[in-house]
Amino acid sequence: MKKVSVQCRHVRLSYGATEVLKDVDLDIEPGEFFALLGPSGSGKSTLLRLIAGFNRQDSGELLIDGVDISAKAPWERNIGMVFQSYALWPHLTVWDNVAFGLVERRVDKATIKQKVGAALELVGLSAFAQRRPNQLSGGQQQRVALARTIVIEPQVLLLDEPLSNLDKTLRVQMRQELLAMQRRLGLTTIFVTHDQEEAMSTADRMAVLDHGVVQQVGAPAALYDQPVNAFVANFVGTMNLLPGRVRARRGDGITLDVEGVGELQLAPAAEAPAGDRLMLSFRPHSLRMDHADAARDARHVWMPGTVEASEFLGEFTRYRVRVGSQSLAVDQAHRVGASTLPVGAAVSLGLEPSQVRLLAA
Ligand code: ADP
Repeated sequence: MKKVSVQCRHVRLSYGATEVLKDVDLDIEPGEFFALLGPSGSGKSTLLRLIAGFNRQDSGELLIDGVDISAKAPWERNIGMVFQSYALWPHLTVWDNVAFGLVERRVDKATIKQKVGAALELVGLSAFAQRRPNQLSGGQQQRVALARTIVIEPQVLLLDEPLSNLDKTLRVQMRQELLAMQRRLGLTTIFVTHDQEEAMSTADRMAVLDHGVVQQVGAPAALYDQPVNAFVANFVGTMNLLPGRVRARRGDGITLDVEGVGELQLAPAAEAPAGDRLMLSFRPHSLRMDHADAARDARHVWMPGTVEASEFLGEFTRYRVRVGSQSLAVDQAHRVGASTLPVGAAVSLGLEPSQVRLLAA
């Protein structure tokens, strides 16, 4: 099947006086697995429903394969959508649930047999064809919902939080299955989630939405390493933010006054936004933590701190450490036999300048 692109051009949508999508511009590549990530109420479902044809934009264009489909009804769009509540017909078998859309479209019996068989095989449920939904686990029901959508051979697959009803282990397994299936079909897929781990682990690229505004679009690692603002930095993972004042900018670097740290030299200045006040941003695991009296190397900029709290999370311990008036998150990989630093312990935090990114304050 031909892989198609999906494009939103200056899309705006309001519910009454509230503008829910504000000038949304997106370019989703043919065959891409694209995630829409954002907190609850940011407009993800509204955008997905708009692509499906259940909502209509007030202005802007919606293109599939370069053709504006805004005026088309949902059933004319050749789009498949899977919802969080997958709502299978309880009185029908798995086979009949999957065949439903084809029967409605008056497809001939032999073709239905072949297509339903193939769809069930794709989701690994061939052996369950004669069961009813209540004889299946949550994950299996979700796979039936997927098979039911795929069987009509849509050009674009829309998934609205399809895994959020499943428990954690199943969710992790299902997202890998989903991705493998998407790769086999090469189907352009748009996946809505509020779970950054889910988006990062599956998406080729993702868009982060906040209050109906696309904040940033890019590959997961690019968004994680180069967030454009504090919102993206904190939504995609955890980020420490320390306010700093610019002392001097030169061609090869920038000197900042940072609270609790003192003077800090960073390079290159070209990456720093304009303005006298900036935010230093760095990830919790990029900090080194040592006893206050331990030897300090020159590779790091060291800052004194006090342990405020700690949380043992298995793979690592997350500390909250007070530095000046700020509280920083510090992740320390866990090793067998290692003990946790107590609350009140005086520590030194080592920050590697290369791990710091400057954001507009
Ligand atoms: P998300 O999927 O990111 O949680 P939604 O797209 O569901 O966000 O909602 C975006 C905003 O639009 C929210 O403030 C929500 O309350 C509002 N909203 C959603 N649907 C409607 C509707 N049918 N009528 C009025 N407001 C709505």
